[in-house]
This record gives sequence, C-alpha cells and structure tokens, in this order.
Amino acid sequence: MMTCKEIAELLLDYLDGNLPKEYCDIICQHINLCGPCLHYVESYQLTVKISRELPRTPMPHALVERLQAAWKEIQEMETREEQH
Ligand SMILES: [Zn+2]
Repeated sequence: MMTCKEIAELLLDYLDGNLPKEYCDIICQHINLCGPCLHYVESYQLTVKISRELPRTPMPHALVERLQAAWKEIQEMETREEQH
C-alpha cells in the first residue's frame, strides 16, 4: 500500500500519462479512497485546464493557493499517519 506522499510524488507523471499501467491502477484506487489525494488531483487538473485555456495569463492566485492547500492537506495527513 502506497502512502499519500508517495502517490503525490507520482501524480504529475500519472496525470501526464507517463506511468506504467500498474502504477496507474494503484494510484486510481488510492485516489478513489482518499479525499485529500482526490482533492489534489482535481486542483491540479483545474490548474492545467485554466493554464491551457489562458496561455498568456498568469495562473490565478486563488488557484495556486488551492493547489498548495491540497498539497498541504496530503502532507498533514501523512504526518498523522506516521504518529500512529
Ligand atoms: Zn492519499
């Protein structure tokens, strides 16, 4: 079983389609069960979508914050898991 942090580190490759299928399955399963990771994926996908639609516009500050908040959520969850 992979931890959220390990998943998060693979997410960018996953979202770019650069991971082997077995990793995609593991990540898919994890995301379906894990709120913070799902939140992170959704924030990231939204970020990519907006930056593609608005190529010359800097990324909206609120979106950057949302992505950072989602990332923080994953890290905090990891810290809690380690304390058990
Ligand atoms: Zn997770």
